[in-house]
Amino acid sequence: MKFSERLLSEFTTIRLGGNSRHFIECGSEDEITEILKYGAENNLSVFVLGGGSNVIFPDEGYQGIVLKVSLKGISFENDIVSVKAGEDWDAFVKTTIENGYAGLECLSGIPGTAGATPVQNVGAYGVEVSNYITEVHAIDRITFEKIIFTSKECGFAYRNSRFKSADKDKYIITEVKFRLMKNGEPVIKYPELEKYLASHINLNTLKGIDKILAIRDAVIRIRINKSMIYDENDPDSHSCGSFFTNPVVNQSVFNEFMSKCAQNHLKPAYFKDGENFKISAAWLIENSGLKKGYTVNGAGISSKHSLALVNRGCSTNDIIDLSNHIKKTVFDNFGILLEMEPILAAYR
Ligand SMILES: Cc1cc2nc3c(=O)[nH]c(=O)nc-3n(C[C@H](O)[C@H](O)[C@H](O)COP(=O)(O)OP(=O)(O)OC[C@H]3O[C@@H](n4cnc5c(N)ncnc54)[C@H](O)[C@@H]3O)c2cc1C
Repeated sequence: MKFSERLLSEFTTIRLGGNSRHFIECGSEDEITEILKYGAENNLSVFVLGGGSNVIFPDEGYQGIVLKVSLKGISFENDIVSVKAGEDWDAFVKTTIENGYAGLECLSGIPGTAGATPVQNVGAYGVEVSNYITEVHAIDRITFEKIIFTSKECGFAYRNSRFKSADKDKYIITEVKFRLMKNGEPVIKYPELEKYLASHINLNTLKGIDKILAIRDAVIRIRINKSMIYDENDPDSHSCGSFFTNPVVNQSVFNEFMSKCAQNHLKPAYFKDGENFKISAAWLIENSGLKKGYTVNGAGISSKHSLALVNRGCSTNDIIDLSNHIKKTVFDNFGILLEMEPILAAYR
């Protein structure tokens, strides 16, 4: 096993974080187990890193081991498609489409690795990975046992799963299995995407793979316009994507929120989510007076997307300060607490 010293900012899309003296890439399950054992024997905490698109490391760096998961491989068996955790997510989505599978096209362009997608039940344009996941394979970080979770056992919820909540830091995901639709029809159920397709592409002239690829292309174009595709040359994409989840509130909190909106003649953006209400975090931020492009000490709100906090030459502390300022301002205005979506990698 050979650790190297690395600057963690180079491994995250928000480009923040100091050094790690114990950085290592693992390309096999045996290597992962070996590193976990070494961490346990040497009392070193292990942080599991994928593509670094939803994680923020402290300015001081990370004192323990940073284990980058680099397991590779994609295989097809009838309608089941298996992907190893270290595969690039978007490249995997493209491969499934090129092999004639529908299902994941709306999740095109999301940065990061396939293995991280179950962690926060990655979703976009009306689709979540949990709609298609059949199994998640993992290694228990304490017992080193190999475990298979069925989709139901993963505890998927909106931007959440057991891997981000009850069992946070308990498992390393090694492989994910999806049930996709071979020669199936693409799924379009998000108004913004429908609108874009209606004005840009005549889907009736397309079929099969060409139709699914056209939808993938539309999703990517929409995302580029919002800087939601990571691009070294686009400073607005040096983020973790959405920094806050859309708050889900019960009827009584919602009633109070609505009366505050009525007093201020505001028409909020929300939708009903079962018994609860999901309120647009972007709407809350914008209507608290925090506009796109707002920047303090190099930490800013993207000029294209109110939910993305970007590094315009700041430190991790500056981003956290900005995040706290946004949370306080929204709470003072609307009585709603925003929750942070990315993971803060603190040494335990
Ligand atoms: C421009 C941009 C746009 C984005 N758009 C979206 C979007 O539309 N929808 C969405 O849901 N997200 C979005 N994100 C967030 C992010 O891309 C996803 O959460 C992605 O799945 C993170 O993958 P990653 O490999 O980069 O994970 P990392 O950032 O490396 O890690 C994230 C968390 O997952 C854990 N983890 C990573 N790999 C494993 C593994 N193999 N086993 C166990 N735990 C693991 C890490 O320990 C950490 O807690 C966006 C981010 C950016 C920068």
